[in-house]
Amino acid sequence: MATEMIAGRPPAESHTLRAEEERLRAHLEQQLRVRTRFAPLADVRALLVSPDRDDRPKSLVVSSQASIAERIYLYVHVAAHIALGHHLPLVTIVEGPPGVTRFTDASRHREAEDLARAIWWGQTDKGGLLGPPAFVRHSTMLRRLLASDPSRTALRSLLIGMRHVYYDLRVERALAGSRLAAWLRDALCLTAVVCVAPQLSD
Ligand SMILES: [Zn+2]
Repeated sequence: MATEMIAGRPPAESHTLRAEEERLRAHLEQQLRVRTRFAPLADVRALLVSPDRDDRPKSLVVSSQASIAERIYLYVHVAAHIALGHHLPLVTIVEGPPGVTRFTDASRHREAEDLARAIWWGQTDKGGLLGPPAFVRHSTMLRRLLASDPSRTALRSLLIGMRHVYYDLRVERALAGSRLAAWLRDALCLTAVVCVAPQLSD
């Protein structure tokens, strides 16, 4: 099932996700001085390593197995940890697989999840720089549909179906610059991120 979904994934979705991932990664580096790199990590999704002094860049090591959508979530979550002041000198914050936290860290990760949700939906970040792409940023309809597991799955299937119709009708060239195409790309991107990080939903 998962393989079918990946094989059938419309090309524009992964392109939009990749562009969003690059945008958020650049934001982390420029605004929060977090340098990201990728490495094979066993049983860990990401490590945020803080230097001995606050004026030095922090390092974020992300598992090379993390999907693009997961990386987007991790960037928002890490930004929340930093906003909460969890990045103490020489302390490494460990992000485990979704839903798995070490007992001692559980309350901090929960706090970061709560703040990440507020950041993602633009409640703390007026410019929406760490939120979903522009066309769907303020869509209460999508947000409501993403709030529960069954409607989230149905929405994703519906959007992917719409994307296939769009390509099958061979109208993508005519509609490439349209608001409909942009909305569809952004909606797929938003849905992909919330599907891998349901804690972002209400
Ligand atoms: Zn965390």
